[in-house]
Amino acid sequence: MARHILKCEKCNIYTMSETCKCGGKAIPIKPAKFSPKDSYGEYRRQVKKVEWKEKGLL
Ligand SMILES: [Zn+2]
Repeated sequence: MARHILKCEKCNIYTMSETCKCGGKAIPIKPAKFSPKDSYGEYRRQVKKVEWKEKGLL
């Protein structure tokens, strides 16, 4: 999976399209500089959720 994960500036949801469903602009997520494992795990979960949603599995 080499797709970009983007995050809406407006409603802060993760998406894979540059324009969020809310009409806001989605920007690429930068990896956390301090990289706490917990936050990264949470990020991965969010990404998974988005993928499932886009595949219609949720
Ligand atoms: Zn949005």
